[in-house]
Amino acid sequence: MKPPHRLVIVGNGMAGARLAENVLASADGRPFEIVMFGEEPNGTYNRILLPGVLAGTHAGPDIVSNPIEWYAANGVVLHSAVRVDHIDLAARVVVNARGVREHFDSLVLATGSRPVVPPIDGLIQPDGSLVPGAYVFRTVEDCAQMAVAASEARRAVVIGGGLLGLEAARGLLSHGLEVTVVHLGAHLMETQLDRDGGRILQRKIEAMGMRVLTATTTTKVQADTRVRAVEFSDGARLTCDLVVIAAGVRPNVELARACGLRVGRGIVVDDGLACQGAQGVYAIGDCAEHRGVAYGLVAPAWEQAAVLADRLTALRSDAVYPGSRLATKLKVAGVDVAVMGDRDPCDDDEVVTYSEPSRGIYSRLIVRNDRLVGAILIGAASVVPLVVQRFLDRSPVPAQRSDLLFPPTGDGPAMPVDQIPETTRICDCNAVSKAQIVETVLNGARSLRSVCEKTRAGTGCGSCKPEVQRIVDFVCRDLADAPAGGRAAAAEHATAYTGDDHAQA
Ligand SMILES: Cc1cc2nc3c(=O)[nH]c(=O)nc-3n(C[C@H](O)[C@H](O)[C@H](O)COP(=O)(O)OP(=O)(O)OC[C@H]3O[C@@H](n4cnc5c(N)ncnc54)[C@H](O)[C@@H]3O)c2cc1C
Repeated sequence: MKPPHRLVIVGNGMAGARLAENVLASADGRPFEIVMFGEEPNGTYNRILLPGVLAGTHAGPDIVSNPIEWYAANGVVLHSAVRVDHIDLAARVVVNARGVREHFDSLVLATGSRPVVPPIDGLIQPDGSLVPGAYVFRTVEDCAQMAVAASEARRAVVIGGGLLGLEAARGLLSHGLEVTVVHLGAHLMETQLDRDGGRILQRKIEAMGMRVLTATTTTKVQADTRVRAVEFSDGARLTCDLVVIAAGVRPNVELARACGLRVGRGIVVDDGLACQGAQGVYAIGDCAEHRGVAYGLVAPAWEQAAVLADRLTALRSDAVYPGSRLATKLKVAGVDVAVMGDRDPCDDDEVVTYSEPSRGIYSRLIVRNDRLVGAILIGAASVVPLVVQRFLDRSPVPAQRSDLLFPPTGDGPAMPVDQIPETTRICDCNAVSKAQIVETVLNGARSLRSVCEKTRAGTGCGSCKPEVQRIVDFVCRDLADAPAGGRAAAAEHATAYTGDDHAQA
């Protein structure tokens, strides 16, 4: 009998853990021995729910996806709380800092990314650690430390006005601190938003009680036994006793670089997620760079994990990852923000904009050759599913462009379930469509929990759970109402709507 295939995964975060789960689910009959290395202690947790832990809406255990017992129960060997610090590609061996050596047939690097710490005077101690009272926001441990510090602090400064900075700021606000967000760029979240969108978001953030300083460079952190103040390039000084650094992330590539793999911004992989020139070595998640893009988001990481699992288990040994078409729905400090595609229009693009600053609403669509190539939607949650759908399926936008932002069904109650097109993506993190949810209910799952377990919908940021629940309730109601031939009737009813969603809406 063939010996089992030894799959070693370095990194036990959201990408590495998902890969292990997928391989276990697909490796029917094919023997695999999975060995994982994780620098963080314990099992795997849902990192994107960390803002909830900081804000106190989730407890640490709530966000654990695979507890430590899961590994042994599934025959996975986990070396946790230690870094891998050497890979010998020729000998096909991985070695961690405790000297544990594991041989591999296939090796997957899923080392994630880490916070960028800008070169600010006084921020870093001689031993390389941050001064007391200064934190980064990446791990559950960072969150725990920040929460303790917040309980003893009065004034916090968050350096960075991107998604993470704003989430950290809101978390600290909920601890009762005075919070100032200091942002280098001209407006908040400038990677995702245009200037007007950034300004409207800023108004909303300020209305919550946070202060925002844009176009401001932090030059110095003053600290003795703890942080006392920050200074800016214009000479201004702000007293504070807690500083959070949220200035972006950088892929963890050092291990790959040291063993000779090709590295750009991330570890360079091809459409099979393979590293060049190293047979059986792959990279996925935040650490990977595919066609020049290092995504830093969970949906691409999970798409990559799915493709690689199919290749490794030979379920679809020719599976390819073409890159992710991203439509990102975020709750930024409690504000609904959706961004997709191009941020800036080209010369001949049509730009459709609707702005209502006093209500914190801003929508901008970029249309090219009758197709939606980019959109920013702030505070317009009800139209997001339709806009995302147009973007993802590349279907023509309505001749009257404004119908996308103000569908004839109105901005009120959500679209009836039977009118949601089958292909509509309900869960963006896991790319789960309405049709998959309906099918899962028809196949016997009758609760939100069991549908989420089976489809994985709702297991990322969780924001789609109310919509999943609505679909589950609708199909269950139909099944109850149609006892004879109920399944077929319910399926037909739930997905009755197949035509042009706009025309019918
Ligand atoms: C606070 C926060 C909020 C976020 N919110 C969102 C969001 O709303 N939407 C979204 O799409 N994304 C969000 N993200 C980003 C998302 O969490 C990442 O895209 C995702 O975690 C990537 O998964 P990964 O496995 O590649 O990296 P990670 O989850 O970072 O896992 C990598 C793991 O590898 C370990 N590791 C690294 N080097 C080694 C080594 N040498 N040896 C052993 N182990 C090693 C690390 O310790 C880590 O545990 C957020 C991130 C943070 C921090």
